[in-house]
Amino acid sequence: MKEFTWEAYDERRILICGSVNMCFMILGQFPGDYTETVYLCDENYAGMDYEEVLSQIEEKAVSQIEHSQLTPSIDSEEERLYLEEVRGYFEKLRRLKVKLLSGEEIGSFAGDYCILASRTLFNRYCKCLGYTSLEDFYSAVPILKTGYARMTYFGYLTTLYRRQKNGLYLGGVEINLTKRCTLRCRDCANLIQYYDCPERMDADVVVRSVKRLLAAVDGIAMFKLMGGEPLLEQEMMQKILSLPELSPGGKVLGIQIITNGTLLFNEDLLKLMRKNPLLGVLMSNYGSLSFKEQELKKQLSDFGVQYSEIAENDRWRNFGDPHKVYHDPEEASKLYNKCRSKENCCTVLDGRFYACPRAAHGDMLGFYPEPEGHVDLLGPEDELTLRAELKKFYYEYEATSVCMRCTNLTGDLIERAVQKTKKES
Ligand code: SF4
Ligand code: SF4
Repeated sequence: MKEFTWEAYDERRILICGSVNMCFMILGQFPGDYTETVYLCDENYAGMDYEEVLSQIEEKAVSQIEHSQLTPSIDSEEERLYLEEVRGYFEKLRRLKVKLLSGEEIGSFAGDYCILASRTLFNRYCKCLGYTSLEDFYSAVPILKTGYARMTYFGYLTTLYRRQKNGLYLGGVEINLTKRCTLRCRDCANLIQYYDCPERMDADVVVRSVKRLLAAVDGIAMFKLMGGEPLLEQEMMQKILSLPELSPGGKVLGIQIITNGTLLFNEDLLKLMRKNPLLGVLMSNYGSLSFKEQELKKQLSDFGVQYSEIAENDRWRNFGDPHKVYHDPEEASKLYNKCRSKENCCTVLDGRFYACPRAAHGDMLGFYPEPEGHVDLLGPEDELTLRAELKKFYYEYEATSVCMRCTNLTGDLIERAVQKTKKES
């Protein structure tokens, strides 16, 4: 794909193709003195008034910050600054001239700066523009590497939450519903490729651990249901999503179901999902491997469930072979403290709370010389003891032994979702 740069910009029209949210992130990086009209293509908002759409999205972002039961506990100065930042961002967007178009309306833009901000709708945009390949588009990635776009709403909150040491606010927590997956990615960062016919998890253990975790903490910025492939365990998912603690005004700010686009939701689950405005589905789109992607999107749209896709990035970071040692303990400790996984991806697996998925699955698989540190969520009967254990672990534990065996921050970028061959299995 071509790289869009402001240095090379020669005043041709700019069309951004993608979801409005992603397009807004890109618009946020436009120079403040840009006066031409920018065109956005998102079928869901086509023809609507830009100001109106902007107000809707701003209102949602601001009210999520202001009305969350959790924010009074967040240091008010930090919250004020964050709100100021969010409002300033929308203020900037308000100064731009923008027109929202449908696919049918973008045909005449071929040859202009057509920035692709959606992976899944690539074919659709190609068809509408008469393009044949990715080479015809400009990539959104260089623009999204800078500024506000790097700090998405939940990214900010997870960091902010971790700083609230007066309580127990967790950033992102991954609840593992299964070790099984419909794909077998050679470089799966969660080590799912190393399980040989894993057994199903005990739904009672999973649900009880979630309940105990929610009772012990003050808040969780992003509560993620994942696996393996979590859609293999829809009954279990339904039990978890029915917990009153996961309703708006409860202890979580956002719920995410992370799926690989190979399975569909059952109808009962969709009915439950649509009732919860905190919930969204995050789809990893692995091209032809995610063969249910279009059907899944239609299903979610039909039921009014929000969804988004993993950000435009064709490659994964190589986390390395968990059996090999890459760093000495001192270096590993530094890496742990830099790693965003400790903020975003604390992991609940088989009733245990771990620092990150690699720590959790590697421990289950017996990959490390010593048992990996964790908190037993079903251990201490009394909630205050569990809370104290979790707090100590969350703020003091360092997964050094695992980080010694991980190249999350140092590995190369590699092709995503390459499937293990029979020989490798
Ligand atoms: S689809 Fe996701 S969970 Fe499954 S093996 Fe691939 S990366 Fe791992
Ligand atoms: S093992 Fe360490 S470096 Fe690797 S993802 Fe986990 S916390 Fe991050």
